[in-house]
Amino acid sequence: MPLSPTRRHLLQLAFGLVAASVPGLAEAAVTAARLEQVAGHARLTLTLNAGARWRLTATARPARLVLSLPGTTWRGAASLGAAGLVRGAAWNNRAKQLVLTLGGPVTVIRAAAEGRQLVLEVGPGTTAGFAQLARGTVAQGEAGGAAVAARNLPLVVLDPGHGGKDPGTIGVTGTHEKRITLAAAQELKKQLEATGRCRVAMTRTRDVFVPLGGRVEFARKRNADLFISMHADSAPGARGASVYTLSDRASDGLSAGLAQRENQADLRGGLHLPPVSPEVERILFSLVRQETRAGSERMAASVVRSLGGEVPLLPNTHRQAAFAVLKAPEVPSVLVEMGFLSDRRDEAALKRPAHRAKVAKALAEGVHAWLARQQAGMSNLG
Ligand SMILES: [Zn+2]
Repeated sequence: MPLSPTRRHLLQLAFGLVAASVPGLAEAAVTAARLEQVAGHARLTLTLNAGARWRLTATARPARLVLSLPGTTWRGAASLGAAGLVRGAAWNNRAKQLVLTLGGPVTVIRAAAEGRQLVLEVGPGTTAGFAQLARGTVAQGEAGGAAVAARNLPLVVLDPGHGGKDPGTIGVTGTHEKRITLAAAQELKKQLEATGRCRVAMTRTRDVFVPLGGRVEFARKRNADLFISMHADSAPGARGASVYTLSDRASDGLSAGLAQRENQADLRGGLHLPPVSPEVERILFSLVRQETRAGSERMAASVVRSLGGEVPLLPNTHRQAAFAVLKAPEVPSVLVEMGFLSDRRDEAALKRPAHRAKVAKALAEGVHAWLARQQAGMSNLG
């Protein structure tokens, strides 16, 4: 027998009281919902009054994204209109699901809880990519609520090479590498922060000397998700951008030479790792290193892809060598040579703010693609 509205209301009220008396179980409600088009993407923002678990799934036929919010009341508008590839969004109160009807395959650029807000951003995607999404949970987590720590945006640490008493390479017409790296990192920071998809910290923001170990420690102490060391060194006859990941064995002579010179930037050298017993250190490192290395390789590939359309590239653009600054065992790390100051054309280009902005734009795209993949990978594990 269906409950009368009054009775249902009383039951809800009683449940609300019980829930309110148990810390962390206050009834969660979506108090506001907004669907808008931002820079070619559709962005959905839900505001919650208390902590709530959420889960995002996809169905291929019909093309839909389904955001489940178990136990949550909806106080937003019942229907949210359209934005970009999202043709409409409607709340199904029985299933406690917000169903987004799609006009075509999408890619999920962002699905994250930020404090009391749950933000979902989708852009155009491929059929194959969307079919992949429809195979499992796209993302899930917890939003808001005192009992639930607000999940922070991922942290990207930018490391402008050299500084202070170490000018780095001095270009053909006298350009100091340390100035180029700082200017480019500042531009990249600005571009990354503008998208609101990650936080950014820099190992130096002024013309100061920072030892290599200090740069690595900077990223480790902050639990960085990604570390990008930025350079514009010299290499005889070389021109174009290139990306390096850590390896005990260098992929080629040029990379070996770069790493050797780079590592000399800090004559005190080596890594300053916090004191742990050697055995614990060994176990921890072997556990995380493999994943870190895989993450670094993926990042290098992502950056090479995004740089490709924008700036000249050094042949075999992704290379490996034993760079000390890439040795954080748990932080995926890459070193980007934005060009070589030993090449007159690269030097002239890197001195121009417009060119640095182009490099930064490509790097930012590489970072976003990498972050999106990391987030999707993590939610698949969950
Ligand atoms: Zn350098």
